[in-house]
Amino acid sequence: MADYELRIAHLYGDLMNTYGDYGNVIALKYYAEQIGVKVSYTLVSLGDVFQANAYDFVLFGGGQDYEESVTAKDLPNKADQLKAYIENDGSLLAVCGGFQLLGRTMEFADGSIIQGIAVMTHHTVNLNSTELRDDMRGKRLIGNIQIKNNQTGENYHGFENHQGRTFLGPGEQALGTVISGNGNNGDDKTEGVIYKNVYGTYFHGPILTRNGNLAKRILKNALSRRYPKIDWQNKLAAIVSETF
Ligand code: GLN
Repeated sequence: MADYELRIAHLYGDLMNTYGDYGNVIALKYYAEQIGVKVSYTLVSLGDVFQANAYDFVLFGGGQDYEESVTAKDLPNKADQLKAYIENDGSLLAVCGGFQLLGRTMEFADGSIIQGIAVMTHHTVNLNSTELRDDMRGKRLIGNIQIKNNQTGENYHGFENHQGRTFLGPGEQALGTVISGNGNNGDDKTEGVIYKNVYGTYFHGPILTRNGNLAKRILKNALSRRYPKIDWQNKLAAIVSETF
């Protein structure tokens, strides 16, 4: 039996999983099991209680505008516990729609604006917003993307497809600087967000399978919070990871 456990919550995994975001769980499990850590998985969806102290890692995936609007109605019920989790250094990966909903506001393609739960300070406008310069409007941001993480110097690779344009707010830094592709808004060269142990990104699907270095970093954060006396960095350094 494994001595250690990583408890994963997949927020709205039955709604916000359009691009196979669940693959991020599989990637973390792949690395965790190699260092003797057992992974448990809980789907936390509409009407369920999210309890902050029950989890070591949370995945909040992306979705199309309809699924995102359904999720947005339920999310305020979980906002207090989610905020407690995040402020208490909980590890979380939010992809695309999930990333948008953790911020202040989100504007859908049809122009309707909803409140995010504002546990973080970014906001998102739609592709035709008057907040955007003329040359930034009108098209979805689709294609391969490569970014450089400024803390580690690592490059991350992915694929983006979003209409929303996100602008980071106070206290937030980008996951990376855009080398090629569009990123948060196609203009300021930021992609994604880092806030405490929260990583947000527009990279579709299993970002962690393509970026093993980021998977190991997130795993180290999550396990160090739960088991602070263990040198997880050292254990993870022994595992081969791939980036492609
Ligand atoms: N519906 C959102 C948008 O188009 C998010 C899309 C996504 O999660 N890929 O901006």
